[in-house]
Amino acid sequence: MSDEILTHSDQPALWTGRYYNEGVDSQVFDKLKEECGVFGVFNHTEASALAYFGLHALQHRGEESSGICTTDGEQFYVHRGMGLVKEVFDNDKILSLKGSTAIGHVRYSTAGASKLQNAQPLVFRFRGGDLAIATNGNLVNADELRRELEEAGSIFQTTSDTEVLIHLIARSKHHDPRLAVKEALQRVVGGFAFLILINDTLFVAQDSNGLRPLMIGTLDGGYVFASETCAFETVGAAYMRDVQPGELLIFDKDGMTEDRFAEMTRRSLCAMEFIYFSRPDSDVDNINLHMARKRMGMRLAMESFVDADVVTGVPDSSISAAIGFAEQTGIPYEIGLIKNRYTGRTFIQPSQELRERGVKMKLSAVRKVVEGKRVVMIDDSIVRGTTSLRIVNMLREAGAKEVHVRISSPPYMNPCFYGIDTPSREELIASSKTVEEIRQAIQADSLHFLSKQGLIEAIGRSAGEYNRGMCLGCFDNDYPTPVEDAEQAGCGC
Ligand code: SF4
Repeated sequence: MSDEILTHSDQPALWTGRYYNEGVDSQVFDKLKEECGVFGVFNHTEASALAYFGLHALQHRGEESSGICTTDGEQFYVHRGMGLVKEVFDNDKILSLKGSTAIGHVRYSTAGASKLQNAQPLVFRFRGGDLAIATNGNLVNADELRRELEEAGSIFQTTSDTEVLIHLIARSKHHDPRLAVKEALQRVVGGFAFLILINDTLFVAQDSNGLRPLMIGTLDGGYVFASETCAFETVGAAYMRDVQPGELLIFDKDGMTEDRFAEMTRRSLCAMEFIYFSRPDSDVDNINLHMARKRMGMRLAMESFVDADVVTGVPDSSISAAIGFAEQTGIPYEIGLIKNRYTGRTFIQPSQELRERGVKMKLSAVRKVVEGKRVVMIDDSIVRGTTSLRIVNMLREAGAKEVHVRISSPPYMNPCFYGIDTPSREELIASSKTVEEIRQAIQADSLHFLSKQGLIEAIGRSAGEYNRGMCLGCFDNDYPTPVEDAEQAGCGC
């Protein structure tokens, strides 16, 4: 574990030349960075151990820092650090986190903000007692609120958006924490899922558009909360339901109280959860992610058939779509690309040659599968295009005769303001290039993206809501909230 500042790359460089966590695929593969993951426990004797295992299951959502805060009703116990869950915690640390209530967090961050003081849960003392918070998402009006609070005398300890909510709670005229939390939530705009612990009461809230996922499960008479259902499987909890947009759930000695801080506005769950972020064994609204991605691959095949010898997917997030594409076309699916999972931490100089080698450390083509073949390569998205170019070249170097690229989402053209760390619009290749120009840039024989309608129908959420209850802002520039005040896109965790 290290509390050193682990700065990630400034685009478009892949590495800064500092210590780099090889597990961060988003850096090697030019992927969008997932936002964060939260996991909570209420009323379970093994709260800290459950939080540890739950965070493990959510590790793909954030690899830079992890933390757990528990309470035994008397005091808070907290441990946070830079690194993976397994690096930050050991048995003794878990045992030292006492009590039956826990909130935990895994985090990615925007460049420059990756430091221990921003690792969550954030813990504070205020006139109402102890307060801890773990969040996933981003507040669109955080900068404006921060300025207002600073002018009123607040002193911020972190650069995290989340601290804005803490100051709003602490400065509330209400002494009842339920009213203070509700009032604070009514002032923030954006995409968020919050777990807030005030003394021995746990507050669970989701933004009024339902942008960031948050689910409730039950276990041995207690409750668990997670960004994804895969964490419930890991700890043996039963899924109960999704938290609803604008909902505020309160857990205390009287059990669960259902309340709201806002009416649901336009329900807009992030479509990228279905495309890329969530694990394939997770379900969202009872839709399994592997099955949804498979349907995206099938629809992509219907929209952009190409005669080929073999279909392969970029591991891991594109495998399901590749299986669907193969099933629909009858072209055999093969493992044509292999991901090396055991690269560990490495010091990498920021030279072009070593960047290329870095990609090869993480990914290799299976020569015997692709040699002399017409290959369809399925990927879930193209961000800057640099990775696609490398993978196309890798397949050609391994002997592929043709490389046809199929993307199981529409062109990613716009930044996200709700917790996904995206490059600026100018750096998104699809924001300025046509599909044909992108094809030329990545040197593919052909290129097709899944249509927006195809995506929506393949995911299969119930009809009747705008975009079937999903946000597609990064594809169509149609955001569910005003974003003009957002000074910074990305992740505010
Ligand atoms: S803009 Fe894109 S990444 Fe951001 S919440 Fe909407 S769909 Fe998800």
